[in-house]
Amino acid sequence: MSDLTHYVNGAHVAGTSDRFADVMNPAIGEAQYRVPLASKAEVDAAVEIAAAAQPAWAAVNPQRRARVMMAFVSLLHRDMDKLAEALSREHGKTIPDAKGDVQRGLEVVEYCIGAPQLLKGEFTDSAGPGIDMYSMKQPLGVTAGITPFNFPAMIPMWMFAPAIVCGNAFILKPSERDPSVPLMLAELMEEAGLPKGILQVVNGDKEAVDALLDNEIVQSIGFVGSTPIAEYIYGRGCSNGKRVQCFGGAKNHMIVMPDADMAQAADALVGAGYGAAGERCMAISVAVPVGDETADRLIEELVPRIEKLKVGPYTAGDDVDYGPVVTAAAKANIERLVQTGVDQGAKLVVDGRNFSLQGYEDGYFVGPHLFDNVTKDMDIYKTEIFGPVLSTVRAQSYEEALGLAMDHEYGNGTAIFTRDGDTARDFAARVNVGMIGVNVPIPVPLAYHTFGGWKKSVFGDLNQHGPDAFKFYTRTKTITSRWPSGIREGGEFNFKPMD
Ligand code: NAD
Repeated sequence: MSDLTHYVNGAHVAGTSDRFADVMNPAIGEAQYRVPLASKAEVDAAVEIAAAAQPAWAAVNPQRRARVMMAFVSLLHRDMDKLAEALSREHGKTIPDAKGDVQRGLEVVEYCIGAPQLLKGEFTDSAGPGIDMYSMKQPLGVTAGITPFNFPAMIPMWMFAPAIVCGNAFILKPSERDPSVPLMLAELMEEAGLPKGILQVVNGDKEAVDALLDNEIVQSIGFVGSTPIAEYIYGRGCSNGKRVQCFGGAKNHMIVMPDADMAQAADALVGAGYGAAGERCMAISVAVPVGDETADRLIEELVPRIEKLKVGPYTAGDDVDYGPVVTAAAKANIERLVQTGVDQGAKLVVDGRNFSLQGYEDGYFVGPHLFDNVTKDMDIYKTEIFGPVLSTVRAQSYEEALGLAMDHEYGNGTAIFTRDGDTARDFAARVNVGMIGVNVPIPVPLAYHTFGGWKKSVFGDLNQHGPDAFKFYTRTKTITSRWPSGIREGGEFNFKPMD
């Protein structure tokens, strides 16, 4: 079995820590290669290289930095098939989903091409007699990002593209479950013209993360992953004086009003609940039909659709709806939570237990599950399952449905399906969740808006991508300059004192 590398100073570099993790192909349950887990010394060495390279990159004008992003976009299109195949092989998602993963990252890179405009400062002419005041956005220096397994192309690009186009160096610590695509992206950035040392990939686990959190040179940390780790990274990073933004877990509710188009709502729920095996932070994991009649109609529409879902490996073609979950541990955790649902009295309407795929018995496939009569106190309601499990919580009124989304500790995304504009408007205005869909089940904002949840789904002030990314990766410097109209007398300025 071969070993993957780190990507440091423009080259693939073997790990020296002697610690490795297996990178699995989840469709067959076999290790493909090992990824090195960096030591503190390896992380610190990469940070030194970044710090040495960054000032020259910051001095490159924004237009030229943007041209690197332009070239990178072309290379992403050129290598789309190769990237998607590598991504599916390690993650398990279908090829169309893997291409979507690259595409949603690419769109943020496209946004970053606007850097010359987005980095323009402000100027006040004649703020006082002979006084001008201007502010500029300067890069932070060495920045770092820690990313999750579920979007190994998109989320690294959401971080490194704005960081780099703003003039920073960036160290990426991707998920150890699917590190190949991040390594490929770093190579492509250099092919696009990025100088060595500006984007480096250091693979690893907690040891590498802690080294980044504790390194004094690192100015900012971006994190996307589960809430407990987000909370830990935010606390340790902030107490070390860094700028930190952390995006955590989710439990997204979809409210279905009695007047909704039930077939449309069911189609939306099946895509949003089971797509990518439910391993999306914007997946819908809770359906909230309002009224028992709505619930019965919804379940009736859902069941045949769920039973028709085709679960399989990414190699089986484009009609596969979703693939395996990422690891044996993830599969075991989903199965454990499903059992708690049964034990705690929820009704398992579609039972995906004991799902098996001929020829792929060792793969981490999980059949689709649909629960009805789920209540607020059940573990399957409180916990992020991150698998193909949809829970139905019956609400008796709109206010009760709204209250469910409001009271849940997570606040990433939510949706309402209704034909009534007044209800939809009220929901969007009152719900304490970051991203809202009205008859849209997965309301992921486009690159030029910002992405982020509320409550325990986020730690920090600024969102990902859009204008917030340019704020996160720069700091403002404001200059007050005084050039009073001097009268040259005898070759010297004769400054008039200010009034
Ligand atoms: P994870 O928290 O297990 O891992 C994320 C990153 O943290 C990885 O790089 C991992 O190596 C590192 N890490 C893991 N344990 C650590 C520790 N003890 N100390 C320091 N670093 C550690 O998350 P995951 O399983 O890779 O991803 C799934 C999670 O990410 C879900 O909770 C999902 O909702 C969330 N997610 C959130 C968003 C969002 O924008 N809010 C987007 C995608 C995924």
